[in-house]
Amino acid sequence: MKLLRYYGYRGLSISKAFMQYVWDSSGKRYVDMHTGIGVAFLGHNNPRIVSRLKQQLEELIVCSTSFHCRAQDEALDALSRVAPRGLTSVAFANSGSEAVEAALKAAWALTGRRRLVALARSFHGRTLGALSVTWSPRHRKGFPVLEDVVFVDPHSDPSEAYSLVPSDAAAVIVELVQGEGGVTPVSPEVLRALQDAAREKSALFIVDEVQTGFGRTGRVWLYEAYGLEPDVLVAGKAIGGGFPVAVVFMRDDVAKALRGRHGSTYAGNPLALAAVTAAVETLLAEDVPARAAHAGRMLVAELARLLGLEHVRSVRAIGLMAGVELRMEPSKVIACLQEEGVLALKAGVTTVRLLPPYMVSRRDIVEAVERLGRCICRAFGC
Ligand SMILES: *Cc1c(COP(=O)(O)O)cnc(C)c1O
Repeated sequence: MKLLRYYGYRGLSISKAFMQYVWDSSGKRYVDMHTGIGVAFLGHNNPRIVSRLKQQLEELIVCSTSFHCRAQDEALDALSRVAPRGLTSVAFANSGSEAVEAALKAAWALTGRRRLVALARSFHGRTLGALSVTWSPRHRKGFPVLEDVVFVDPHSDPSEAYSLVPSDAAAVIVELVQGEGGVTPVSPEVLRALQDAAREKSALFIVDEVQTGFGRTGRVWLYEAYGLEPDVLVAGKAIGGGFPVAVVFMRDDVAKALRGRHGSTYAGNPLALAAVTAAVETLLAEDVPARAAHAGRMLVAELARLLGLEHVRSVRAIGLMAGVELRMEPSKVIACLQEEGVLALKAGVTTVRLLPPYMVSRRDIVEAVERLGRCICRAFGC
C-alpha cells in the first residue's frame, strides 16, 4: 500500500521521542519545534499523559456519549478548571476542523442565519465548513466552499471592520495570532470591533484557539490578553497532550441550539477524554503557561539576534509560538535546520515557524537559533 501523505515528506524516520526531543532511526537527536504542528506542546510521551492513557486503555475504550462513564466526569471536572469565563458547556471533536464545524453549525442552528465573517489569511481547517472560513486560495481552490463568507482584513481600520459585519451574519470567527497564515498577530482593535459588531447584530463571536490555546502563548487562552468575551472558543492541538481530540467551549444556550442536531461516532471517547484530563492536570501542575511565557521571552531575545541578517524581515514570538519572517521562501532553511538537528515548519509564504514544547531549555533555544542563523546564511548567503 502507498501512503498518501497530506504534507510534503521531510525524509526523516522518527523512531522515538521524549519531551522536547525526537530521535531518528540512526540515533541522531533533534530538538522538536515542529511538534506534529504544535500538538506535542506538553512534550512527547509526557509521563503524566502516558500513564493516564494506559490506565484508561485497560479500563474502558468505548463509551458513546449516549452513556455515562467516569472518564466524562473527570474530563468535565478538569475542563471546568480552565474553561473560558461564561462558557459552561462543552462538546468534543476528533480534530480542530471538526470542532470548527460544530461551532459553525451551532451558530447556524442558533441564529437561523447563514452568512459568516472571517479574517483574511485565516486558517480554520480543511473540512468544508472550516475550509469556507479559511482564506487561502491555495487551500480552497477547486472545492465547493460556501459563498456566504465575508473576509475582513485583520489590519483594516476597526470602524471599517465593524461595518463589514452584515446584519444577517450567523457568526464571526477569528484567530488571534494567525498560525498557518504566518504567525501574524491580529490587531486587538480589529478583534474588539468585530466582537462589538457580532454583539450588536446578534451573531456569535467564535474564537479559534486551536493553535494559540492551552498555554502556548503564555496564558491558558490568548483571548484573555485581548479583553475579549467569546461566545464559543475552539481548542485543539495541544489540548490532548498528543492524542487526537478537540474541544468546543460554548455558552449553555449555544449548546442547547446544537443538541440533537450534530453528531460524531468517536467524539468524546474515553481515551480522548482521559488524554484531555491528563493534559489539563499537567498544565496546572507544571504551571505550563508561566513556563511557556518564560521560555518565550528567552526565545524572542535569541531570535532578535537574527534581525541583523539581510534576509530576515522580522521576528515574532507570542510565548512559544514564534515566526521568523524571511524575504524568501524558507523551505531550504527548514531542510538545513533538520540536518542540523532542529525540526521547524513553515507558516504563510515566507515564515519559519517554531512551536516548541513548554519544557524547551535555554540551551535548546540558544542552539536552535544559532543553527537557524547559520542555515539562513547557508541557504541565501550572508
Ligand atoms: C490546525 C488548526 C485547525 C485545524 O485543526 P485540525 O486538527 O488540523 O483539523 C483549525 N484552526 C486553527 C487555528 C489551526 O491552527
